[in-house]
Amino acid sequence: MRVKRSLLTNAKRAYEIRLQTGNGGNLSGRVPGADLIIIKASGCSFDQCQPNNLITVTLDGAQVDGDGSPSQELVTHLAIYKQRPDVQGVFHSHSPWAIACASLGDAIPTVTLHAKSKLGRIPVLRLSGATPQANLPAIKALLTADRKLCVFVQDRHGIFSFANSIELARHNAELVEETAQIAWSMALNQTMAPNRKREA
Ligand SMILES: [Zn+2]
Repeated sequence: MRVKRSLLTNAKRAYEIRLQTGNGGNLSGRVPGADLIIIKASGCSFDQCQPNNLITVTLDGAQVDGDGSPSQELVTHLAIYKQRPDVQGVFHSHSPWAIACASLGDAIPTVTLHAKSKLGRIPVLRLSGATPQANLPAIKALLTADRKLCVFVQDRHGIFSFANSIELARHNAELVEETAQIAWSMALNQTMAPNRKREA
């Protein structure tokens, strides 16, 4: 099936470039023409994704097939799909630069022309609680306030990217991580600049 092939390709790519290490993170895709999505199983790494541990669920969260249980962050994926009919893929990773940069303010600065044009903005959402369910109201409010939003970063958690394809969602997550690294480096450079003047 095309959705599963795309999930496998993008999971492997994310693992290979260390956008997500270990067994964290998850990704999903909408099944065209059906009220179904397919999502990575809980507990397996992006590198371990196989057709059988990609879990098919209804938009109400009922499991249709697949070995194991769906990712614990299924509720977040479902909230995005329900609120955004245009979204065909959701990608989530605990990427270090994005998480570090999210601790600095209400948004990760889109410091490059590429990030500005492709993402628009990268808002940071503060955690409302330790469970995905506790954070749903804030996520829904964010999506309601900006119908064109394609990404946000959850403080101390990671990137959520969503687009009209799984591949584009993963591309945008890569761009968030790249942008966060550049923004952090630029902020560090500004912090160090006065010291360099004093040394000279
Ligand atoms: Zn997570």
